[in-house]
Amino acid sequence: MIHNSFKAAFNLILPYRCLVTGEILSDSSGLSPQAWSELTFIANKQGAVCRTCGCPFSVIEKADYDETHISCVSCMDNPPHFKKAAAALIYNDHSRPLILGFKHGDKIFMSGTFAIWMMSAGAEILKETDVLVPVPLHWRRLIKRRYNQSALLADALGKKTNLPVSKLALKRARATPTQGHLSAKDRRKNVKQAFTVSKGHKQDILGKNICLIDDVLTSGSTVNECARTLLDAGAKSVSVLCLARVADI
Ligand SMILES: [Zn+2]
Repeated sequence: MIHNSFKAAFNLILPYRCLVTGEILSDSSGLSPQAWSELTFIANKQGAVCRTCGCPFSVIEKADYDETHISCVSCMDNPPHFKKAAAALIYNDHSRPLILGFKHGDKIFMSGTFAIWMMSAGAEILKETDVLVPVPLHWRRLIKRRYNQSALLADALGKKTNLPVSKLALKRARATPTQGHLSAKDRRKNVKQAFTVSKGHKQDILGKNICLIDDVLTSGSTVNECARTLLDAGAKSVSVLCLARVADI
């Protein structure tokens, strides 16, 4: 009761606000009903998705295809090292403030909610997963940001699924410039050889089915390079689960 009274008093001084619209909320859900309704959950979309990278197609209806045999042009032209990828949300104008608030704005209390969305989007992947591995930040960026948003998501997912989380198995071998402005080809070049498996944590991944965790899937070049590194070090398979993904729909 004391705890609840304290929380209520605290909320009067520093009220919870919607991370998207900024309006005051009565609880710590982080989202107003309007913001909720504007998010695009990939599972709710009508169209088909690529069986490999999970990218939604805008023009193919679910009824018109065999879900087990369809891949996007990008996956057919350059088959990725990862087996399968899934994401909960489309990264767009409505989800961007939510994700940037989590990534750069210390809104880390959202990780539990995000983990529930990711569990739903990645149910098939998680069924076959032995260990969760977050995409690492270079130590210099980690010091600057103070936390790795992907590691927070992996921890929250680990708690809800009881899957082990290996935060130290994969590390950045070198710092890479941010990729926001780069083309897909330059992104691939930018992350080449950027990761390595830590000597002391090889057993975490040897012979294991890994699920890589990241916040946003853009071109897929980062997770693809992580997958290549993990497979080279003896992982049995690597799949990818993200909170959101960029999609041209
Ligand atoms: Zn694809």
